[in-house]
Amino acid sequence: MVPPGTGGGTPGVPRRCSPAPIRCVDAPATAPTRRDRYDVRTMSDTTPDPRPQPSEGPPRDRLGRRPRDLRISVTDRCNFRCTYCMPAEVFGRDYAFLPRSQILTYEEIVRLAAIFVRLGVEKLRITGGEPTVRRDLPDLVRPLAAIEGVRDLTLTTNGSTLRTLAAPLAGAGLRRITVSLDSLDDALFRAMSGADMPVARVLDGIAAAREAGLAPVKINMVVKRGSNEASIVPMARWARDAGFILRFIEYMDVGTANGWRMDDVVPWAEIVALVDATFPLEALPPNYPGEVATRFRYRDGAGEIGVIASVTAPFCGACTRARLSAEGELFTCLFAARGTDLRAPLRAGADDAELEARIRAVWGARDDRYSDLRSAGTANLPRVEMFAIGG
Ligand code: SAM
Repeated sequence: MVPPGTGGGTPGVPRRCSPAPIRCVDAPATAPTRRDRYDVRTMSDTTPDPRPQPSEGPPRDRLGRRPRDLRISVTDRCNFRCTYCMPAEVFGRDYAFLPRSQILTYEEIVRLAAIFVRLGVEKLRITGGEPTVRRDLPDLVRPLAAIEGVRDLTLTTNGSTLRTLAAPLAGAGLRRITVSLDSLDDALFRAMSGADMPVARVLDGIAAAREAGLAPVKINMVVKRGSNEASIVPMARWARDAGFILRFIEYMDVGTANGWRMDDVVPWAEIVALVDATFPLEALPPNYPGEVATRFRYRDGAGEIGVIASVTAPFCGACTRARLSAEGELFTCLFAARGTDLRAPLRAGADDAELEARIRAVWGARDDRYSDLRSAGTANLPRVEMFAIGG
């Protein structure tokens, strides 16, 4: 029922979990937690690696990882103010989001995405901010879908505009979609999302996505202690009945604005135990190496859930993700303090070979593994906000 390896308990301490009923114990102290040997430089240093990099084929970073997924943030703006991502007290009316001139155009995004695909990326995820607040999004989806070598093209959205946009996005070549939703309870949904709309609007957007043929529809639910634990089982029931794949996400210490505390994290094992008590589960193997979610199926065959346990069971060793921010910076870690500017060379006339060499150098220099090293020592490091680089 529970995946082999890690999960629950003390961050950085691997856990061994037994089959149902769930029992997790701290692993013997042989695992290299490195909490006391934390190296700040590795979090944010994207200085190109002086060692020669191969100029052909997929690059490998210092930990042997290859780039397979590119998350493309098309805007830093959002029409929601989720407390754990873009809290309204910090990102109010006066907050200076990026001016249009600093945001990559769709042509620039497509050109960079094609270079990433040449470097081995197979999966593209459009995100933000809220990607659907950017105008004419299907005009980006169409050329991205046409890049040879793209096997998976998807979008993460809060779902608020899908009634209008789902069909045009599907028509442009979007294949599937992930919608973020933290509760079915209207008051709780409004409180957590800061959205000035009923949850029914998101549910209608999700229905529109299904009608448009986007499949599978996945639902992301961030679980925060003291906020929406009571929504775990109702959300599981709803997604199960409707045939959506629900992914529970541990509340993460992304950015520096959400006041994250370890005490607010509900470990994945607790989430799975809650669901399992009502709808018995068993573990599933990953769909592909490096899959972010750990998967479980309902024993009665009524679908699956996943948990994204980046706090209590980090998966940095299998990370194949690169992130392109709305302003054209390349980030290799969600928890990095800074990225590498690709927009400047792009706009200065660099050709594809030069851009490719720059991306190769950044990837080759990569040795970040923030979640593996998370500790008191990492708590106060500068980090870019998640909405700026794409979730
Ligand atoms: N606006 C879109 C949306 O709502 O899905 C895309 C961007 S959002 C940053 C991408 C995902 O990140 C969402 O599923 C959101 O719930 C998740 N997220 C944001 N902040 C988070 C945090 N502190 N911990 C865990 N997940 C978070």
